[in-house]
Amino acid sequence: MQVFKFGGASVKNANSVRNLVTVLEKTGHNNTIIITSAMGKMTNALEDVVAKYFNKNNDLMDSLGKVEQFHKLILIDLFVNKSHSIFKEVDLLFDDLNIFLKTNKSPDYNFIYDQIIGFGELLSTTIISAFLNKKGFKNEWLDVRPLVKTDNYYRCANVDWEATQKAINNAVNKEVLYITQGFLGSDANNFTTTLGREGSDYTAAIFGYCLNAKTVTIWKDVPGVLNADPRYFNDTQLLENISYTEAIELAFYGASVIHPKTLRPLQKLSLIHI
Ligand code: ADP
Ligand code: ASP
Ligand code: MG
Repeated sequence: MQVFKFGGASVKNANSVRNLVTVLEKTGHNNTIIITSAMGKMTNALEDVVAKYFNKNNDLMDSLGKVEQFHKLILIDLFVNKSHSIFKEVDLLFDDLNIFLKTNKSPDYNFIYDQIIGFGELLSTTIISAFLNKKGFKNEWLDVRPLVKTDNYYRCANVDWEATQKAINNAVNKEVLYITQGFLGSDANNFTTTLGREGSDYTAAIFGYCLNAKTVTIWKDVPGVLNADPRYFNDTQLLENISYTEAIELAFYGASVIHPKTLRPLQKLSLIHI
C-alpha cells in the first residue's frame, strides 16, 4: 500500500487537478490511497463563512457564494458535459452546508467551525474522485470521518488510535485506488472534528501507520524538503534525505512544509517522500 497526499496548493485549480492525474500516470496507482486537502485557500474562505455565521454578519451569503463560485468554476473547466452527475453531487454538498447553517442550535464556536470547515475537503475529494473516474482512473471515494476517530476537542482533535486502526483496516481492504479527505475525523457522536490547521499531512501519516504502508508521499509545490523556505530565501538547496529527528525538528520550529504531528507515526515505516 502507498499513501499519497496532495495539499491545497497542489489542488488549487483545474490545471493542478490535471497535474495530479499526470502524477498518477507517471507513478502508478495500484494499491494507493490518495488524501487531499481543500482546494487552494478554501479553508480560509470557509473560516470567513464560520466567522460571519457566528457573528450573524449580513455578508454571510456573499462569503458562502465565493466558496460556491470557486468550486463551480473548477467544475466547469474539468467537466465539459454539464449533465455529468458531479454537478448535482456538488449542489447536494452545498445543500447540506446550508441545512447546517439553518438548523444548527449549538452556540459552541469550535463545534460550528468543524461542521462548516470540513466541507472544503468533502468538496475537493468529490470533485477529484469524479474527475479521476472520468479520466479512466477508477477509484472509490471514502468518507474519512467514520475512519479517523477522535475525541471531541473540536479544531484540534486527538486521534483514538485503536478505533481508527480498526476502522481504516475494515474500510481499506481492496487493491484499488481510494480517495479520501485529509484533516477530518469524527467524535463518538459522529460529529465532524478537525485535526488542526494544515492537518492533512498528519492524516497521511495516520493512514500510513494504520495500514503499515510501504511509503507515504506528500506531494508539494516545492521539489522536496529544502534547507530553507523558498518564499524567503532564493538560494535554497534540496535535501535528498533527512533523518526523522531532523525532520521533526524542522517541523517543530515551524517549517510549514510538514505538519509537526506527521513524523511520529511514520517512524515505524520504511520511507516517506516529500
Ligand atoms: P500544502 O498545501 O501542500 O500542504 P504548504 O503550503 O503547507 O503545502 O507547504 C508547502 C510550502 O512550505 C512551500 O511552498 C514552502 O514555501 C514552504 N516551506 C517552508 N519551509 C520549507 C522547507 N524547509 N522546504 C520546502 N518548503 C518549505
Ligand atoms: N485544509 C486544511 C487547512 O488548510 C488542512 C490542510 O490543508 O492540511 O488547514
Ligand atoms: Mg500544508
